[in-house]
Amino acid sequence: MGDWRRSLAAAIRTPEELWRVLDLPWADLPAAQASAKLFPVLVPRGFAALMRPGDLSDPLLRQVVPLIQEGEESPGFTPDPLAEGDCSPVPGLLHKYAGRALLVTTGACAVHCRYCFRRHFPYEAVSRSGRWWTEAVGHLENSPGIEEVLLSGGDPLTLPDGVLESLCADLESIPHLRRLRIHSRLPIVLPERIDGGFLAFLSRRRLPMVLVVHANHPRELSPEVVTACCRLKAAGVTLLNQSVLLRGINDSADVLVELSKALFEAGVLPYYLHALDRVQGVHHFQRSSSESAAMMAAMAARLPGYLVPKWVREEPGAPGKTVLPW
Ligand code: SF4
Repeated sequence: MGDWRRSLAAAIRTPEELWRVLDLPWADLPAAQASAKLFPVLVPRGFAALMRPGDLSDPLLRQVVPLIQEGEESPGFTPDPLAEGDCSPVPGLLHKYAGRALLVTTGACAVHCRYCFRRHFPYEAVSRSGRWWTEAVGHLENSPGIEEVLLSGGDPLTLPDGVLESLCADLESIPHLRRLRIHSRLPIVLPERIDGGFLAFLSRRRLPMVLVVHANHPRELSPEVVTACCRLKAAGVTLLNQSVLLRGINDSADVLVELSKALFEAGVLPYYLHALDRVQGVHHFQRSSSESAAMMAAMAARLPGYLVPKWVREEPGAPGKTVLPW
């Protein structure tokens, strides 16, 4: 087992362990235990090591700690806010936008983000044994308008290199595909995943690779994360970042400006700042549109244009992400 798989196997998986590792107030544990039944806790120990012990308001901890609000109903917050079930021509393949299709490669992640828009996704309905992608690849072969395939999940980098190799080799045999894109949080929360085996996998790719990482706060850019990003960049990967605007985590221009600068120094360009998807159980992360617009304007006033992410919302049925005004 490689080092990253050992790290993943050793991740924190219960509220009790999170409380013990971070020395959190025991009075708050029962609420976390109740909410963890809705979406289990999963936190790599290296990521937990970046959090401030004893501080439930720490912005990294708030991304992973179950809160009692997750069990509350809130108008407009639903299990499938993006209606992804309506745009799946074959199991595991989502075709929402012209020219691009998304493969749900796995239900596994290295971290469970409490705001996840797929926290209710029916992963169990998507078969994942053997060459499960055969039907999806067949659909892509017969869809000459699709030129880019996104590997998503879950998190595709939780798959072993051998599975990624077989999947990508099959995709690269489709002549009309021009790019492959991976969406992954592992370079941020489990940077040891970017090891020699993965770099060798990248070196064998016929198609240009884009890797969209997912950092929400500048403190996530540890020296290990920066090293992982630099290795990816040196391997010829185009690196982009997407964040979600989250109340109590990164909802300030100061934090977002620092995040953009830290990303650039790691070789990553800010790509999207997502408005929160209205998935059931995450309403407490929401900021109002007017507050968010003011933050965007304040950030843009302090950064060169190439470090200002697009502020976007995903709307069901829209032909692409909707760029929001500010
Ligand atoms: S890594 Fe991505 S898919 Fe997994 S829980 Fe976090 S946001 Fe959701």
